[in-house]
Amino acid sequence: MDHAFRAPKGTRDILWPDSARWRSLVDVFADVVSSAGYLEVIPPMFEHVEVFQRLGQATDVVRKEMYSFEDRGGRQIALRPEQTASVVRAFAEHRPVVPWKAWYAGPNFRYERAQKGRYRQFDQVGVEVLGPEDAHVDAEVIALAWRFYERLGLRRVTLAVNSLGSPGDRARYVEALRAHFSADLDSLSEESRTTLAVNPLRVLDSRREADTALVAAAPSMLDHLSDDAEAHFGRVTDALAALGVPFTVSPRLVRGLDYYVRTTFEFVAEALDAAQDAVGGGGRYDGLAEDLGAPATPGVGFALGVDRTLLACDAEGVFDAPTSSIDVFVVDTTGGERAVVLTDDLRRAGLRADRAWDGRSMKAQMKAADRSGAAMAVIVGEDELAAGTVVVRDLRGDGGQETVALDSMIDILRARLR
Ligand code: AMP
Repeated sequence: MDHAFRAPKGTRDILWPDSARWRSLVDVFADVVSSAGYLEVIPPMFEHVEVFQRLGQATDVVRKEMYSFEDRGGRQIALRPEQTASVVRAFAEHRPVVPWKAWYAGPNFRYERAQKGRYRQFDQVGVEVLGPEDAHVDAEVIALAWRFYERLGLRRVTLAVNSLGSPGDRARYVEALRAHFSADLDSLSEESRTTLAVNPLRVLDSRREADTALVAAAPSMLDHLSDDAEAHFGRVTDALAALGVPFTVSPRLVRGLDYYVRTTFEFVAEALDAAQDAVGGGGRYDGLAEDLGAPATPGVGFALGVDRTLLACDAEGVFDAPTSSIDVFVVDTTGGERAVVLTDDLRRAGLRADRAWDGRSMKAQMKAADRSGAAMAVIVGEDELAAGTVVVRDLRGDGGQETVALDSMIDILRARLR
């Protein structure tokens, strides 16, 4: 064959043991958020494109990065670039009782410049709370993400919080920014001049050298907050302080999605390269439910990047991948028929069990047993077959072994594996 298929650019295969670590990350997340009363929602991976257009035409993920197409029925469809819009669309469609506290996990699709930590298919775990306007919900949501990172063992994650004010504050601030940057257009990079025309807030995100001075001198959002928005933000930061969740207030934090009002926040992993060091973020989106056809309902949530969170775990040397996938390896030198039943017995007893195939020699099977990472081997030869026994061998340490009756095999293995 003169060609070999590869996964498309920006996608990758997650093989074991990374896949096992991935799954345990989602399990840890599910555990953290379930303990706070969040229930799982599984929205579809594609929606009518209009659902995502509600995120705002100035949003990069909508403007430049969406995988959209016409399906065979002539519908305009898009693969989801994020899940908040889908979850809020689901809320608008089903109208569950509020407060509705939902969590999700799954892939998103964005046509991005692919590199390490930035993929075209990437996964997120997240929560959304619809109903309450209470600033303490913002604090609960932020603290849950923080507790999740703690559970993974990450130590070098920082939290930045900001308030974008009420929609009116935000609009006034955008005008102040437009005036500030327009007054000195020549000092702005060309890219930022384009951004300014579309979305002045996003100019604050520029990390380009040329923009540094002008961005640093830009007016601060915090000076444009109405009394209400300021009080809300104060309650969020007070609650975080009471919870012992460390944070910095970062008046330039605007985040990429247009729908945020009031609280926004972002988690950064210091162990990652600066270009891809954001591991998660979120905020309040009080107008989104209404935009998607529900009665006006406040909302707040976050999304955490699974791929990048695992890269951060690598960089910090925490949350290791498992070293073995099975507990017991069955070695059968009598032709393999005994192994058929033994592996099934072991599995039904709740032990993870595997075996060798193709009638290999005892030596080859023992090698396979070692390679499997199993702690114990169960060995059957002609003598054991005749006597109704098996040899139970410890594959760790000094490899002690004993011959045991078939009907006590499971108990003995359980005791040894404990
Ligand atoms: P966002 O939905 O843009 O607010 O992103 C939330 C989190 O998802 C980010 O902090 C990243 O950890 C992760 N993320 C976003 N886009 C990508 C991507 N293209 N590849 C990998 N992770 C991503």
